[in-house]
Amino acid sequence: AMYRAKAQGKNSYVYYDADMHAAGMERLKLEGDLRKAIARDELVLHYQPQVDTVTGDIVGVEALLRWQHPEHGLVPPFKFISLAEEIGLIADLGNWTLREACRQLVELQEQGHMLAKMAVNVSPLQFNDDFIHEVSEVLYDTGIRPSSLVLEMTEGIAMDNTQDVIRGLKNLKALGVSLSIDDFGTGYSSLSYLSRFPLDDLKIDRSFVIDFDKSEADASLVTAIIAMGKSMNLQLVAEGVETKAQYDFLTRNGASVIQGYLFSKPLPIDELRELLKPGYFTQQINELSGQGLRALKTDTR
Ligand code: C2E
Ligand code: MG
Ligand code: MG
Repeated sequence: AMYRAKAQGKNSYVYYDADMHAAGMERLKLEGDLRKAIARDELVLHYQPQVDTVTGDIVGVEALLRWQHPEHGLVPPFKFISLAEEIGLIADLGNWTLREACRQLVELQEQGHMLAKMAVNVSPLQFNDDFIHEVSEVLYDTGIRPSSLVLEMTEGIAMDNTQDVIRGLKNLKALGVSLSIDDFGTGYSSLSYLSRFPLDDLKIDRSFVIDFDKSEADASLVTAIIAMGKSMNLQLVAEGVETKAQYDFLTRNGASVIQGYLFSKPLPIDELRELLKPGYFTQQINELSGQGLRALKTDTR
């Protein structure tokens, strides 16, 4: 009942009932399982390509966590990340992910694959001095080039004392890693804070990309975000791109890197290797941009 009440926000109450008992037991079981997931080697990373729309090359991949549960199968992150945050397990999961993703990138590069960047998600609850220490250890232990690591953070980090956050981000930058702001536009952070953060990339959230052609408000929001990112000298990554129409709109407005099902879903490492072959997306990009050009021509007629 307490968790239910908390989920409803502050100053709320919920009476305990029998249904809650079942849900509570299930949650307790999941919680116990999650605590053992690392030791039991049940965590898996899938990787989603980020494609440069000019060259057709994969410029980076994002590591996305999955949990291979013995009974429930492959569990997606939305089912366990917030649970991990609630029970104080997110630092352990996050550290495992960081280390594994960096190790994997170094291995791919050693095997001769051309892959410049690995992006790793960081929970706002993970972001503290211990984390910065962990990043520097992982850089050292895995031997990854610091400039190859991109840390993706949501606007949630801006909820804390801004001075502390800026100091932490600067310490991370001093290690040589890149910083990316994820799900941009969905949080509540003020632009004046964000402009003071030492950021490199800006990821435009999928929710704006989905509806741009149905809603003029979303379309103008996307163009505004792109313009803002450019004026702040940030590299723009558009995520959740599924259709040609979305691709055309985004590239026409200056988003240079695209991540989405249009190119690939997040893949297990063995399947990713196939896509890392040089020129894998070149033909698709050529076809797409040919259509983009035709669309532009008809627009201006
Ligand atoms: P995110 O960081 O914004 O990751 C992008 C999500 O959008 C991924 O979902 C990806 O599979 C999905 N996506 C990408 N392109 C498309 C598309 O074209 N269409 C659709 N429908 N979806 C697309 P996923 O893997 O389920 O991850 C969801 C969220 O879980 C992530 O959002 C991130 O916030 C969180 N997450 C994943 N791994 C980690 C992790 O290691 N640590 C932390 N703290 N959070 C993680
Ligand atoms: Mg992300
Ligand atoms: Mg995102």
